This record gives sequence, C-alpha cells and structure tokens, in this order.
Amino acid sequence: MNVSLNGRTAVVTGGSLGIGRAIAAAFYQAGAKVALLARRPEPLAEARATLAALAAPAGAQVAAWTCDVTRPDEIIATHADIVATFGPVDILVNNAGQSAGGAFETITDEAWQADLDLKLFAAIRLTRLVWPGMQAQAWGRVINLLNVYAKTPDARTAPTSVSRAAGMALTKVLANEGAPRNILVNALLIGLIKSDQIRRQHAASGGERSLDDFIAATGARLPMGRMGEAEEVANLALFLASEAGSYVTGCAINMDGGLSRVV
Ligand code: NDP
Repeated sequence: MNVSLNGRTAVVTGGSLGIGRAIAAAFYQAGAKVALLARRPEPLAEARATLAALAAPAGAQVAAWTCDVTRPDEIIATHADIVATFGPVDILVNNAGQSAGGAFETITDEAWQADLDLKLFAAIRLTRLVWPGMQAQAWGRVINLLNVYAKTPDARTAPTSVSRAAGMALTKVLANEGAPRNILVNALLIGLIKSDQIRRQHAASGGERSLDDFIAATGARLPMGRMGEAEEVANLALFLASEAGSYVTGCAINMDGGLSRVV
C-alpha cells in the first residue's frame, strides 16, 4: 500500500497540539513538506522542533506559521508565504477547533459567529485559496476534522453540532465539485480522542481525579472502553491523503471507537 507523501505539500491547521500535531507528524514521516498553523508561537515552535527530530525520508520538511484561522487577512498572507516556501498546497487538513456547547438560550450571537468563523469559514476560506492549484494539477486532498455531533446532534451541543453539520455538507459539495479533477474531500467525525482539549476538560472538571483516571473513566463509557489516540486519527488521515486513498471521496467517517449511534 502506497502511503508515501514524497513531494507533497501539506497544510495542517491546529498543527501544534493534539490531533493536528499527530497528523502533521505522520505526514512528515511519510515524506511531505508540512506547514503547521496555530495562534500561539511557543507550542508551534515546540511541535516544529519535535517533528524535525523524527526520522523522515529525504525531502521531508516542516515549518510553522502563527496564524489565527478566523482572520481572513492572516489566512491569505500565510497561504502566500507557504506557497513561496514549499510550493502549491496538495493536501489541506482543516483541523483547528475547540469544543463549544451549552444550553441553547445562553448562546449569544457572538458565540455562534465565533464558532462558525473557527469551524466553518476558516475551512471555506483556506480551501478556496488552495483549490485553484489543486484543479490545475488535477490532484488534491482536503480532510475536514469534524465531530460525531455532525450526524447526531444532541441537547446542549450547539453551536458545535450546527457548525459541524455545515462542515459535513461543505465536505460533500467540495467532493462532488473536486471529483472530476481528482481532488478528494473527506471528513473525520471525532468522538473522544486524547489531546490538549481533553486535558483542558480535565482541568475544568475540578481536578478531583488525576488526568489518567479522568481519561480512563471517560473512555470506559465508550463502546471500545477507551479514548482514542491522536495517532489513530493520524493513521486514517495519512491513508486518505496518500495514493492509498485514491478512490475515497465524499465520506464522513466516524473516528470514535463505536460511539456514534449512526453509521
Ligand atoms: P487541541 O485543543 O488539542 O488542539 C487544537 C489546535 O487548534 C491547537 O494547535 C490550537 O493552537 C489550534 N487552534 C485553535 N484555535 C485556532 C485558531 N483560531 N487559529 C489557528 N489555530 C487554532 O484540539 P484536538 O486535537 O482535541 O482537536 C482537533 C480537532 O478535532 C478540533 O477541530 C476539535 O474540535 C475536533 N474534535 C476533537 C475531539 C477530541 O476528543 N479531542 C472531539 C471532537 C472534535 P492555538 O490555541 O495556539 O491556536
């Protein structure tokens, strides 16, 4: 199975931590030139250095850009800089995000807009920038990280579930428009994966249990009895980004250890 990304340029938003970082590491180790995007310089620099120390094929590169993906001006400038550094983008992973949910009546217009800016418009704007290059070379991959709530919205999961459902519709629209030019677009619907986000949830839970106990207790409620690892998401992202995934497009794949009630 060919999962080499030799010669490919990949952009991973939210590439400094958690799932994005694991995907970036897998792509780097498969030979890609990887651009990590996030807001805070310190975790970005740490991630860049950690990836650069991994064994990788000749030609693999990693660089980091501080970029708030909710800011259209920053997205445009960062994309131009990445193309100048690495060449046209072959693979885009729209991963930057954070959990947001609560009682419907408490969610303000500002909170709705912020969630849509982060989880929907960032993906729209970045994809619009990389799309013409993918069309021109008749090869491209877009992978959108979403949430199982995209298919199974529940009480108190707005605004995330609504933003994620829109992301799933965007995935299908792009998949159908991209298919004739060999641009494959898929979504990964995340359940519970160990990451910085989970560490923040543990901190917010009052800290009565250790992080390991919190992760074990939360994972025990899932069908597989454990939370997923970021590297397990990265394995699937690498498959989809590579030639191995050459006939898979328009899919929203549950990456949740069986959590979702629908296929
Ligand atoms: P983490 O909190 O561990 O990492 C989030 C990453 O996104 C960081 O690199 C962060 O860096 C970056 N980020 C956040 N906001 C922005 C922004 N405005 N601009 C640029 N970068 C940003 O998250 P996970 O790895 O857990 O999650 C990855 C994706 O998967 C997210 O979209 C999340 O919503 C989704 N998901 C995760 C679940 C899980 O169980 N882990 C469950 C369901 C969905 P910085 O803060 O420095 O910008």
